[in-house]
Amino acid sequence: MIRLQNIEKVYRTDTIETLALNSVTLDVAKGEFLSIMGPSGCGKSTLLNIMGLLDAPSRGMIQIADKKTDNLSDKQLAQFRNKTLGFIFQSYHLINDLQVLDNVELPLLYRDTTAKERRMLATEALEKVGLSNRIKHFPTQLSGGQRQRVAIARAIVGKPDIILADEPTGNLDSAMGNEIMDILINLNRNEGTTIVMVTHDENMAHKTHRLVRLFDGSQVQ
Ligand code: ADP
Ligand code: ADP
Repeated sequence: MIRLQNIEKVYRTDTIETLALNSVTLDVAKGEFLSIMGPSGCGKSTLLNIMGLLDAPSRGMIQIADKKTDNLSDKQLAQFRNKTLGFIFQSYHLINDLQVLDNVELPLLYRDTTAKERRMLATEALEKVGLSNRIKHFPTQLSGGQRQRVAIARAIVGKPDIILADEPTGNLDSAMGNEIMDILINLNRNEGTTIVMVTHDENMAHKTHRLVRLFDGSQVQ
């Protein structure tokens, strides 16, 4: 589902060059739940951003959902990303002055959908994360765990093949973190969604199918 070959990423400014990824080669199978761990600054977010086609590698080959993406125009890339990938972040990234339902509908605005379809799909996604009773709330009226569930609903509303999660339980206590993990595990099992998750938490990582460790931009295993 995701194929990375010899991915190198160099960040260049006027004065500094940082080798953030050094020849990373990684295959993620369809239906796999993979976690990525490693110390701060080792390149985890860079790797996830490259997998999410948010950032281009300096060198190497990427294939997402059997498609080579390096020849796509910006517009085609945005469309492909919107259809294929769902993103979840540590700090939720919800829009605070939109109600829960409207937040979840957002990714569908870039697709050919009617208001009625958007409402239906968003309602369905919120049911899957157990938040049907909060659709008219604003994000600031919710707990951290509930906000993350809204973010998951937004990530899955368009039924993406792949979910990329950057420290999804990082701001939550362990009870809420476990709830979020259970939702991701069920999503992976029941819908076959491929998930790649960056985490600092060994317990969470051990619940996934496979763990890849990074150190200084290189894979350790
Ligand atoms: P992690 O997510 O594991 O904490 P990152 O992928 O954020 O690591 O960063 C990897 C390395 O790349 C770090 O050394 C960081 O300082 C550097 N880096 C990240 N983003 C940039 C950027 N936009 N410009 C320059 N250097 C960056
Ligand atoms: P933090 O928790 O430190 O705020 P996140 O995990 O939320 O970091 O974000 C990780 C990366 O995703 C960042 O490099 C950021 O630029 C990028 N990002 C943040 N929000 C979005 C978004 N809505 N769509 C795409 N990329 C985003």
